[in-house]
Amino acid sequence: MKLRYERELIVEYGKKLLSSGLTKGTGGNLSLYDADSGVCVISPSGIDYTEIQAHNVVLIDLEGTQIEGDGRPSSEVSMHTIFYKQRDDVRAVIHTHSPFATTLACLNWEMPAHHYLVALAGPNVRCAPYATFATEELAKAAFDYAIDRKAVFLQNHGMLACGGSMEEAFYIAEEIEFTAEVYWRSRAVGQPTVLAEDEVAKLADKFMGYAPLTDRRSR
Ligand code: 13P
Ligand code: ZN
Repeated sequence: MKLRYERELIVEYGKKLLSSGLTKGTGGNLSLYDADSGVCVISPSGIDYTEIQAHNVVLIDLEGTQIEGDGRPSSEVSMHTIFYKQRDDVRAVIHTHSPFATTLACLNWEMPAHHYLVALAGPNVRCAPYATFATEELAKAAFDYAIDRKAVFLQNHGMLACGGSMEEAFYIAEEIEFTAEVYWRSRAVGQPTVLAEDEVAKLADKFMGYAPLTDRRSR
């Protein structure tokens, strides 16, 4: 079996998506990119995360051709491969239907840096315009609105987080969901203050090398 470690990571982090409340049922999807072999390892479409096994996880090339795995690749495969084709800093992508990020996405709101953890993902989190799920149009919108950032809301749909490792992408997805909840709560009772641009840039530097953002094999 090719890329066993990477397949097991998809199984493990799929379960973590459920246990952390970042998604429900078969919602969302996740992938990794092995740059050495040019292979993307992606969750299978429509299988409950509690049931996915390593042999169901799908290996594809960046054109979407299936190499191994007995599942069908996630229907959002293009939304994953577009990042691997065009961004050298991205080695993992996670798409969630997490409730607070999705609430902001349904409002078509962007989220400013009202909390220092937003700086993990960039100066703010933008909301990509609505496009039907599993389309090239959605993949392109997600990619364009995630430029210079590691998270983006998908209007009337959910969120996408990415990073240099599965650990980083997951950490960003969790923390952006937390900050989306805080933003929603703050806006319910008032107007949160927003951090200054130079402070957000300083935070981005300080996060470099922070342990949850690194591949755990390198720790
Ligand atoms: P898949 O089960 O095909 O990955 O689709 C889930 C999803 O979230 C579609 O946007
Ligand atoms: Zn989705």
